[in-house]
Amino acid sequence: MRVDADDFARPCSCGREHHIAVKEILIEAGAVEKLEEEMSDGMLREYISPLVICDTNTYAATEDLMEDIYDRCQVLVLDAEDLQADKQAIRIVENNMEEDIDLILAVGAGTIHDISRFVANRYKIPFISVPTAASGDGFVTTVAAMTWDGVKKTVPSVAPMCVYADTDIFARAPKRLTAAGISDLVSKYICLADWKIANLVTGEYFCSEVVKLEEKALKTVRSSLRDITEGEEDECEQLMYALILSGLAMQMIGNSRPASCAEHHLTHLWDMEVINDHLDALHGEKVSVATMLVLEEYKRIAAAITQGRCHAKTYVNEDEKLLEETFGKKGLLEEIRKENEPEILREIQPAHLEACLPQIAEIIDELPDEQELFHMLEKVDCARTVYDIGLDEAAILPSLRLAPYTRKRLSLLRISKMLEIRGE
Ligand SMILES: [Zn+2]
Ligand SMILES: [Zn+2]
Repeated sequence: MRVDADDFARPCSCGREHHIAVKEILIEAGAVEKLEEEMSDGMLREYISPLVICDTNTYAATEDLMEDIYDRCQVLVLDAEDLQADKQAIRIVENNMEEDIDLILAVGAGTIHDISRFVANRYKIPFISVPTAASGDGFVTTVAAMTWDGVKKTVPSVAPMCVYADTDIFARAPKRLTAAGISDLVSKYICLADWKIANLVTGEYFCSEVVKLEEKALKTVRSSLRDITEGEEDECEQLMYALILSGLAMQMIGNSRPASCAEHHLTHLWDMEVINDHLDALHGEKVSVATMLVLEEYKRIAAAITQGRCHAKTYVNEDEKLLEETFGKKGLLEEIRKENEPEILREIQPAHLEACLPQIAEIIDELPDEQELFHMLEKVDCARTVYDIGLDEAAILPSLRLAPYTRKRLSLLRISKMLEIRGE
């Protein structure tokens, strides 16, 4: 299937005109053959010195199918073990890339894409995405998730010029990676609810077309979960399509608002390793566990609202000491303070929030309940409890309390600092 990016770049009912930088998106069996054709005598033929960035796993998975492409490129195979998008990986690429490189092909999953995107942006070279697994929604985003001095940072970067997602490659990816992609998509339940609530409470910019796009993607994948993990080609294509749609939604808005909020804030916190040790888990795995934790918390709030046990109160910062203790010991306190200045909750009037509560409860009631989501994740072997990612149960409460500080973006989790819940 060919995704026509122009479909999404029209003037929109939200009052903005959305922009999409990706020119061509192809999701089908044999997509890499099309890529080869474009490189030999199509729109990519002007690039004479392409560089492939892949890792030992993705090279092994693609060396037969992409043989012709590899023959005409400089191929850089990074060691897949402990590979991270960090300074060391960037250095290896910079030290090994030939001087006249004019195009980068990212052949891999999230980390390879982040490394490629970063290098492409630094040297102002276009890059092409060849996803080898449907493992997340970051393929077409404009930001790279980099680890600088042990801290995950979102660095402005570039979107790929084209995406060639070959079903013969990604449908055969390890199941664990595909499950992580499903997890990243399932998290949209939370972040879309958060966006609606932020719009309701503060009038934050909101685009209902983009939300519809994300919800459609979610619905499609939900209806064919089993087949996806069994590697059924059509269903895997649907998952890849949904993940790419989610990435396009971020491009349309210009940031990750449509695809990342409270649930991703928990993963950012865990990645900072201030309340936990290093978690040996994939991004998507952390995200689905976080989604479960936040969903439980939101359902608790919605129930309290419906039963008249939840009321808005004036914002008072009760976390200062905890922030000092946790972020201070790693030298991250200043950064966290800066991120949160001025405090967004101070703009919210308690009386206004009180008036919004019934609608907030409605938004949360529309989400699947905890059991439903748990079984959905269980069915496809996605991570769903803290134990699945090696996190201690004692980390749950501090995670919910501290996560909103990792990014200045309004979520119900953050708003809950202005809510008083009685009678539990
Ligand atoms: Zn719009
Ligand atoms: Zn994600």
